[in-house]
Amino acid sequence: YSSQNPLKRINAELVDYASLKHQEIEELKKAEAYRREFIADVSHELKTPIFAAQGYILTLLDGAVDDDKVKYKFLKKAAKSLNGLDSLVQDLLTLSKIESGVITMHYEVFDIQSLALDIFEQLENKAHKRSIQLMLEKNYPEGIYVNADYSRISQVLINLVSNAIKYNQDGGWVKVRFDEKEKEVLITVTDNGLGIPEEDIARVFERFYRVEKSRSKKQGGSGLGLAIVKHILEGHNASISVDSEENKGTSFSFNLEKGVLNNEEVNIQRTDS
Ligand code: ADP
Repeated sequence: YSSQNPLKRINAELVDYASLKHQEIEELKKAEAYRREFIADVSHELKTPIFAAQGYILTLLDGAVDDDKVKYKFLKKAAKSLNGLDSLVQDLLTLSKIESGVITMHYEVFDIQSLALDIFEQLENKAHKRSIQLMLEKNYPEGIYVNADYSRISQVLINLVSNAIKYNQDGGWVKVRFDEKEKEVLITVTDNGLGIPEEDIARVFERFYRVEKSRSKKQGGSGLGLAIVKHILEGHNASISVDSEENKGTSFSFNLEKGVLNNEEVNIQRTDS
């Protein structure tokens, strides 16, 4: 029609333009609603540890401070609440930076198996307290190389492995497994813990979403760990999948680009020439 009737053409262009603008406005509205909801969620989450710490301190001021035993107990509880507040704020900062796209991923080639072993060491205490075993499903003596952001992937593994410990039973296990594909490495973190009810599985990556608030509260979670994991992996153009059965266990897996070591590349070039 465009060559035959210029008016019709202009009209069609206007309709296209209007629908584009309409779409943009809808997106802005959505972003605004998201922002408002986010602030409401955050304020709510911040209140909990602040009120708790405040409660202990006020009770101390009210006279509990005179009893040495109570004093120690309440100060310890107040400190624990403030500690939780600190990690919540840290998580929030990470999440908002990643969501706003301020953070760029710094790619480097590293051995993800040795990173997993470092993380086991960091979390050993927590696991040991509950007799939970941390293990590699298979040990690759030569390492498993990926091309990814070392510190962000470190955060991903810390969040997944600490969840696997938190939502486990005493005496349980957590296994990390690597499967090398042609261009990627599949990383799987599996536990034989509480599992996630089917109706909650799709929502666990939402910020502040927790299965059974009381169960997670007891474990001191912020509800941001998996949202951070998902965003970091999206920054790597990777997605994460979850497979879980209540009272059986849970398995999270994601792919990372396989890494090629620089000196290997150099060696190949040398033998070629
Ligand atoms: P939280 O800080 O509460 O742990 P996350 O975002 O890390 O928040 O996880 C969201 C929710 O998903 C948790 O509250 C928990 O209910 C559930 N969840 C996460 N990992 C596991 C797991 N390995 N086993 C069972 N439930 C899990």
